Amino acid sequence: MAEQIIYIDGQYLPKSKALLSVFDHGFLYGDGVFEGIRAYKGHIFKLEEHLDRLYASAHTIMLKVHLTKEEMAQVIINTMLKNGLKDAYIRLIVTRGVGDLGLDPRKCPKASVIVIAGVITLMPKETVERGIKAIMTWIRRDPIDGTSHDVKSLNYLNSIMAKIEANNANADEAIFLNPQGYVCEGTAENIFIVKGGRIFTPPTFTGALPGITQAAVSTIAEKMGIRVETRPFTPHELFSADEIFFSGTAAEIIPVVEVNGRTIGAGKPGGLTNRLREEFSRYVSDPANGRKIA
Ligand code: PMP
Repeated sequence: MAEQIIYIDGQYLPKSKALLSVFDHGFLYGDGVFEGIRAYKGHIFKLEEHLDRLYASAHTIMLKVHLTKEEMAQVIINTMLKNGLKDAYIRLIVTRGVGDLGLDPRKCPKASVIVIAGVITLMPKETVERGIKAIMTWIRRDPIDGTSHDVKSLNYLNSIMAKIEANNANADEAIFLNPQGYVCEGTAENIFIVKGGRIFTPPTFTGALPGITQAAVSTIAEKMGIRVETRPFTPHELFSADEIFFSGTAAEIIPVVEVNGRTIGAGKPGGLTNRLREEFSRYVSDPANGRKIA
């Protein structure tokens, strides 16, 4: 099988040759931003939204991206074409670039840009279909200052620590509370609860990333005649929800059936979650919601 082709700083190289300097501040300090994007049936889902979010994250951390959004879109499309992919998980990374051993970003003259197009499987299909077990972790989501998760930066230790706690507890995922104790999000997913036919998801000010899948779920729900209400909710409201689900580019829509030993609803994926999952798979393969790879 031909080697996977990676875009790195102006070149399309085989995976074994796509290497980054150990002096890159993305590696030394987690200094950079990224996006996870999916392509379905030859269309890159919500590409413009992902690029807008990437450039907004870069703006906040004062990282100059030397490619325009359109040039970046072309790089992503070319990476898909060079790998002969129509369905993929794409990782777009912009780091501060190569500097010295100090953390001062002024020492890094040029950002590094990397695009990897491959596949991602967060968990087995059967697990998702059964509904997953989650824990609410003792690790709080980073507050909305320096390492805020509404900036999609390369600092994911907060999420990784929570994932370790989920692994230790034999759970599939972790749910973060924010520093005030409100439910925030998963390690790389937004969270929704369903209660009495209403759907709630926490606002960005709780410390969650404004998810592109989260927004898509709202659009889909609205078409089904249900308006998603964005408001903070408590752990008690989470435990007593009829249904819980996660949303994310990699995750898509994942039902949650147990949290910290409490059964959620009937202990199986809820009716509304299942309907949203069906509508979601139609929505992502609608060419109107993506950019054609050509
Ligand atoms: N929250 C965090 C912290 C994430 O990393 C992700 C994955 N990008 C999400 C939520 C879900 O966002 P999206 O639907 O845009 O992938």
